[in-house]
Amino acid sequence: MKLQNLTCIGCPLGCPLQVTMDDAAVVKVEGHTCPRGDAYARKEVINPTRIVTSTVRVKGSKNYIGTVSVKTTSDIPKNKIFDCIKDIKNLTVSAPIRIGDVIKTNVAETGVNIVATKNVL
Ligand code: SF4
Repeated sequence: MKLQNLTCIGCPLGCPLQVTMDDAAVVKVEGHTCPRGDAYARKEVINPTRIVTSTVRVKGSKNYIGTVSVKTTSDIPKNKIFDCIKDIKNLTVSAPIRIGDVIKTNVAETGVNIVATKNVL
C-alpha cells in the first residue's frame, strides 16, 4: 500500500486529501468534505488533466489589441501541457476574433481545440 497526499483544487477550501493506492488502483480516499474531492483525487492519481489557458498574438486589430486570451475546450493530460504551450507559442491570428473561435485544432495531438475567450475587433 502507498499513501499519496494531495490538496483538492475543487474549491477555495483546499481540503487535504490522502489517497491509499495498491499498485495502480485507488483503495480509498480520505480528507474530502464533498464528493468532488473524491472524484478529483481518483482522477489526479490515475490520469491527471488540466484546462490550459494562454494568449495568442493578434494582427490587424482596429483597437490595437495585440493578443487574445485562449483556452483548451476541455482538460488535457498534464504531461501534454508543455507540448500544448509549444504548439500555440508561435501562432498569430488575424482580427476580428470572436469568443469561441477555434484558434488551433487538435493541440499537441490531444484531440482538443484551443478557442478564443474574448473578442478582439
Ligand atoms: S473536497 Fe469539496 S469542499 Fe473540499 S476542497 Fe474539494 S471541492 Fe472543496
